Amino acid sequence: MNVHDSEKVIGTLMDKGYGQVETPEEADLVLYNTCSIRDKAEQKVFSRLQEFKRHNKGKTFGVLGCVAQQEGERIFEKAPHVSLVCGSASYNHLPQLLVQLETGNRRVTGLSLDTEDTFDTPMTRRDNPHRAYITIIEGCDKACAYCVVPYTRGPERSRASESVLAEARQLAELGYSEIQLLGQNVNSYRDPSAAAFTFAQLLDAVGRVPGIRRVRFTTSHPRDFGKDIIDAMDENPNLCNQVHLPVQSGSNHVLAAMQRLYTREDYMRRIEWMKNSRRNIAITTDIIVGFPGESERDFDQTLALLEEVEYDSIFSFKYSPRPNTPALGLDDHIPDGEKGRRLTILQEKQRGIQLRRNAEYIGNIEEVMVEGFNKATGQWIGRTSQHKTLNFTTAQPAGQPLTGTYLSVRVLRAGPNSLVGEAV
Ligand code: SAH
Ligand code: SF4
Repeated sequence: MNVHDSEKVIGTLMDKGYGQVETPEEADLVLYNTCSIRDKAEQKVFSRLQEFKRHNKGKTFGVLGCVAQQEGERIFEKAPHVSLVCGSASYNHLPQLLVQLETGNRRVTGLSLDTEDTFDTPMTRRDNPHRAYITIIEGCDKACAYCVVPYTRGPERSRASESVLAEARQLAELGYSEIQLLGQNVNSYRDPSAAAFTFAQLLDAVGRVPGIRRVRFTTSHPRDFGKDIIDAMDENPNLCNQVHLPVQSGSNHVLAAMQRLYTREDYMRRIEWMKNSRRNIAITTDIIVGFPGESERDFDQTLALLEEVEYDSIFSFKYSPRPNTPALGLDDHIPDGEKGRRLTILQEKQRGIQLRRNAEYIGNIEEVMVEGFNKATGQWIGRTSQHKTLNFTTAQPAGQPLTGTYLSVRVLRAGPNSLVGEAV
């Protein structure tokens, strides 16, 4: 989401006549987009800002994104060389903020979360010419006890279905064949227009735009995940075989303390829909270990859930206390060493599951979208519908313009993180 926000910011500024340069050294204006989902990401921001300062005297610096929204004017105290601070809900005001700087203001901010219009800019400077992101919903109305997103990205607001579809058609005309729909919780989507599309209907409609061959979506919230999404995937071959459904924990006690609004049983019902689908759906998730009060038994239930679902991959994190969040006030915070121990055990277990899951693909012929060529290994890099990396060789000479095309590849070997094969 942050990558795509940056694309939109760059597009908006280029439309106003700004030019993009390759390195911060060449720039007169440096805008640094930031993440505050975990403390480590946030700390990195301030050390990077110090580095910028040392190497880039006489430039204008701005901080964007969630750290900007969260810290606001405090950033000017911590990093006095910064003169612009702007959260994601105010990016459409960036051109005016920059004019204010140019006309002599020393410090400007865009921190309002009072967002009538979504950041719905047609000006996007995309780096990849084949796969593109489209934002369909911004912000979040949930209140998970550990999470800063509702405070940094503001309330949920959906984009009109026609606007989404117009962007998809425009991308198809430009030669894009893959689209990824984005939102904190894409499946909480509520069409504000008279068309009143559900998320599943919107997904299906994007998958039917002529020229679009692949559609993905992230992230889905389990509470709002309806069976109609799986039904749409069953019906529409252009919807990719991939669902990212963050569970966070396998323990009902921890899920309740997290205020996730579903139980393990609710979650498993959704997994069953996917397993019963005609499609071979790759399922991925996010997990937090060491949430306050997580006992050894709770943690064991998360390990058991990994086995039960057999995820294709997971993103796993140590619980990180965040400013303003309710979890800060909970008792029984877990020591960092113990969080680290649990994370290692979890990741080891998942590695075994991934080896097993990926081995099931050996012998299959999979369609890949070619993403590039790896000179070091002499292999092409492909991506399957399940979003797995499938590195492959082909009889065609290297240097052929294969990137962005679709090929059939036989899977010959499998590792925990990728597959290896040859084009057929
Ligand atoms: N809206 C999505 C997730 C967005 S944040 C959802 O509800 O599933 C992405 C991931 O970051 C979360 O799924 C969670 O696993 C992780 N995360 C968020 N806050 C965190 C925190 N305080 N500590 C550790 N991990 C966190
Ligand atoms: Fe954060 Fe929960 Fe909203 Fe996801 S649903 S962004 S974890 S508050």
